[in-house]
Amino acid sequence: MKRDKGLLIVLSGPSGVGKGTVCGALRKHDTHIRYSVSATTRNPRTGEVDGVNYFFKTKEQFEHMIENNQLLEWAKYVDNYYGTPRTYVEETIASGHDVILEIEVQGALQVKETFPEGVFIFLMPPSLKELRNRIEGRGTETKDLIDSRMTIAKDEIELMDKYDYVVENDEVEAAVERIKAIVTAENCKKERL
Ligand code: 5GP
Repeated sequence: MKRDKGLLIVLSGPSGVGKGTVCGALRKHDTHIRYSVSATTRNPRTGEVDGVNYFFKTKEQFEHMIENNQLLEWAKYVDNYYGTPRTYVEETIASGHDVILEIEVQGALQVKETFPEGVFIFLMPPSLKELRNRIEGRGTETKDLIDSRMTIAKDEIELMDKYDYVVENDEVEAAVERIKAIVTAENCKKERL
């Protein structure tokens, strides 16, 4: 059944919970979901490619995007800006394709204001201890940055109630299956016909 509008799916949750890994695994499942590439002012990590992982911007370029209303949402996170380019998302949905945004919680709540019909999924770590292990295991952050991310994570988990679904990321493929099931169910909702 072809729908006029695609779904706006927001996958959110604390940094380190594995949103990127889960999104990457979801891509391999050939679900026809499209992926929004965010803009950020943080430096690329080893192996990250401009336009693929992020659009890497200077602070001035990012602020220009904010002023020109080019971002659907944006947030400052641990001293850097992150935001979702508006046009890609709006055009994708308008053409009847589902799109997924992988963003932190402040941004997700902004999207909820403008797109209440979106599907909001909170990816939950099995425990805070496991979350810290995952961030440390990534080996990309200093101890101070890990501490900042953990403080933010605790506040973010308290906002879980604002979401439509909570998916535990105990194991990547299991989390992917749950997300696929949510997308399938949402696409079958009669309200979306
Ligand atoms: P990282 O620096 O680890 O790539 O990302 C830091 C946090 O920013 C993660 O929680 C990530 O999901 C989030 N993030 C990535 N892109 C965006 C975006 O476009 N908007 C918002 N609000 N958060 C984002």
